[in-house]
Amino acid sequence: MKITILALLFVTFSSITKTAEMKKSNKLKSRKVLVRNQREMHSCMEHHQYNNMDVKILPALKDNYMYLLVDRTTNEAAVVDPVETKTVLQAVHDHKLKLTTVLTTHHHWDHAGGNEELAKQVPGIEVYGGDDRIDALTKKVEHNTIFNIGNLMVQCLSTPCHTMGHVCYYVTTPDEGSDGVVFTGDTLFLAGCGRFFEGNAEQMYNAFAILGSLPDNTKVYCGHEYTLQNLKFAAHVEPSNQEILKKIAWSELRREDGKPTVPSTIGEEKTYNPFMRVYEAEIMQHAGAQNAIQAMKNIRLEKDSFQ
Ligand SMILES: [Zn+2]
Repeated sequence: MKITILALLFVTFSSITKTAEMKKSNKLKSRKVLVRNQREMHSCMEHHQYNNMDVKILPALKDNYMYLLVDRTTNEAAVVDPVETKTVLQAVHDHKLKLTTVLTTHHHWDHAGGNEELAKQVPGIEVYGGDDRIDALTKKVEHNTIFNIGNLMVQCLSTPCHTMGHVCYYVTTPDEGSDGVVFTGDTLFLAGCGRFFEGNAEQMYNAFAILGSLPDNTKVYCGHEYTLQNLKFAAHVEPSNQEILKKIAWSELRREDGKPTVPSTIGEEKTYNPFMRVYEAEIMQHAGAQNAIQAMKNIRLEKDSFQ
C-alpha cells in the first residue's frame, strides 16, 4: 500500500516537473521566435572562421543569405549578394572591416538589388558579376577569371542555367592544404538546385559537374535557406538513402533554434543532393529517365510543383 502511494506521488511529481519543463522550453522557443521576428530575420547571424579567412552569414529578406568574406590578415572584405545594404554596412562597421568588393552571383533583385545603394555608400567599391543586367556592375567576369581580396584568391565559375550570367565564386587562401569555400547563389542549394529560368537541364548538369569537381571538403554557402524543403523532396526521389534522413534530423534541430543550415560541403552534397546524384539507378528510375541529363530535367520539373 505504502509503495503504491509512494509510486503515485513520484508519478505525479515527475509529471508536474515535466509540464513545467515543457512550459519553460516553449517559452524559450517563443522568445527566440520573437527575437528573430523583431530583427526581421529568418535566421541568426553566424561567424565562421577558417585559416586566415572568415565568412559571416548575414540573413536577409524572407530566406536569402548575404555573406561577408574577410581576409583576416588585411581585414579586407567582400560582400556576396548584398540585397540589404543597412545590415551589410552595420556588420562592416561592427567588425572594423575594409569593404572593397561586391561579388554578385546573378542579376535577380533579391541578390543584386542592393548594389546601387552600396556603390553610393562606399565610393570606389568594385562590383563583380557575369551579367550586364547586374546593377552597378564595374567588373564583368568570365569562367575562370581570378582576382584577390587581400590575400584570398577568388576564382569565378560560370554556371549558366538559373540565369545565363550566373557565376559561383570559389575562394581559397594561400595556406597549403586549407579548405576553400564556394558561394553558389541560386545554382547549387543545400540538397537542391535553382530553377531553370533561362537555361536547360544539360547546362545545370554541367554546372553541377564543375561544382562537383571542387575538393570534397569545400564549404558550400548558397543563396537561400531552402534546405528542409529540398531534403523532403530528396527523400521522395530517393527513399532508400539514409544520408537524407540524417540530414533532415540535423537540419530540423538547426531550424528550431533559428540557426542557418549553411554551410555544407561538396562531399556532403554528393551523398544526399538528388541533383548531384542524377546518375544513381534509384533516381533515374524515379525520373523515368534513360540518362543523367534527362533525370536532371525530369526531377527539376517534378520539384517545380512539389509540395
Ligand atoms: Zn535567382
